[in-house]
Amino acid sequence: MTRNTLSEARTKIVATVGPACEDEQILAQLVNHGVDVFRINSAHGKQEDFERILGKIRRVREQIGFPIGVLLDLAGPKIRLGKLLNDPMDVEIGQEVFFIRGSEPTTPNELTSNYAKLIDEVGLGDRVMLADGTISMQVVEKTRDKLRCSVTVRGTIRSRQGINLPGVSLSVSAMRPEDVDNALWAARNEVDFISLSFVRSAQDVLALKNLLASMDGQALVIAKIEKREALGCLEDIVDAADGVMVARGDLGVEIDVAETPVAQKRIIQVCMDKMKPVIVATQMLESMHHNRRPTRAEASDVANAILDGADACMLSGETAIGDYPVVAVETMNRIMLSTEKMLKDQPAPAKTRFFSRVHPVTSAVTHHAANIAEAIEAKLVVVASRTGGTAWVKAKQRNYIPTLGISNSDPTLRRMCLFWGIMPHKVDQLDNPEKLISDVTHWGKSTGMLSAGDRVVYVTGTGLLNNTHNLLVVNEVPAD
Ligand code: PEP
Repeated sequence: MTRNTLSEARTKIVATVGPACEDEQILAQLVNHGVDVFRINSAHGKQEDFERILGKIRRVREQIGFPIGVLLDLAGPKIRLGKLLNDPMDVEIGQEVFFIRGSEPTTPNELTSNYAKLIDEVGLGDRVMLADGTISMQVVEKTRDKLRCSVTVRGTIRSRQGINLPGVSLSVSAMRPEDVDNALWAARNEVDFISLSFVRSAQDVLALKNLLASMDGQALVIAKIEKREALGCLEDIVDAADGVMVARGDLGVEIDVAETPVAQKRIIQVCMDKMKPVIVATQMLESMHHNRRPTRAEASDVANAILDGADACMLSGETAIGDYPVVAVETMNRIMLSTEKMLKDQPAPAKTRFFSRVHPVTSAVTHHAANIAEAIEAKLVVVASRTGGTAWVKAKQRNYIPTLGISNSDPTLRRMCLFWGIMPHKVDQLDNPEKLISDVTHWGKSTGMLSAGDRVVYVTGTGLLNNTHNLLVVNEVPAD
């Protein structure tokens, strides 16, 4: 089996790589079932691990002939417990534990962390949550060198568990030294997307962008929204970032889990207004870690993310450590196709959507390309794009006519893997319209997508021909 882009969902799938799918054959199966972007989670592993995984993804790309994007997820200022004296340790409601300075607990109920200022910045009455929010405690006394905490939700504490401090403003920097190192590694290795965890402000995003610019790195920066502070300045963060992830795992701990569905809708709406790609992440098909079928609620979750306007949905543990990574991807693609079938019948927006940082000609031409395609019953829209910009504007105009994104640049084609509804396809050159049309016609005929007499609408990015803005051409497929 090879990848059949014509039968896949418009909404893109991001899948996290881990021990359950690292085998090249499984990675290939995931791509053939609809994965567009592989996520490497820097929280688990070192650069030698990322390098090994990237090597495998590159070989799978070659083997399948599909671009496949790569996203490196930077852990950011994630605060973690230090080593416990007794690991693991069960804690019960009302039990007292103490956060102390340093890294050497002297009694089992003393906890340490990797954040030296934790004791200074957490206050009396603040909540401290561990293990993805499954354990909760409250600070009942604060002294110079100690926080006395009382457990309010019981559980098992383990060394290195994540700590969430909902509502606490921390002065920790946006990137730890290892994040900087990993970002530089990503820039050197042509990683396509870099996501930053625990973003709190537009400055956090700009710090990463500046770092990449200093290396001439081309990766798109994805801001993970998982802090209440980020929701407070969401518009600025979305403006600063190239894309956004609704990181519901930590978001659902940092804010009340009951608020996350509405927060998700708001984040997606802001991304729609500001024309940025948005990925919905975490627990989408959680039960598929150990089951071959998702729950009804999970199927609805994927469908609702699409109805909200997500450009991509992400699988985390389902593909990284789950028992059925391929089934999870196949299931997600099926839910997407079924949801999109309903949306296809809805009329496309009549008016062109203009975006602040997109030339109005590009917005109008991409929008009307779809209208023209509909009016003349074209089989295909083709967007020729050097950097991916025009393809991206077309993606955000949302329309269900099959759309091919063509480029002669591999990095551009890999970016397109995150662009809703765009099927990336490589051509030899972009500045020879006749050759370009003949290449696409050949591809269309060979895949059965096009036959003689079919109409195809071509849109090019600006400047592909001398002195032109975006160009729009209609071609009728000739007989052989
Ligand atoms: C999340 O919190 O939802 C998320 C995607 O980040 P991580 O998997 O790094 O916790």
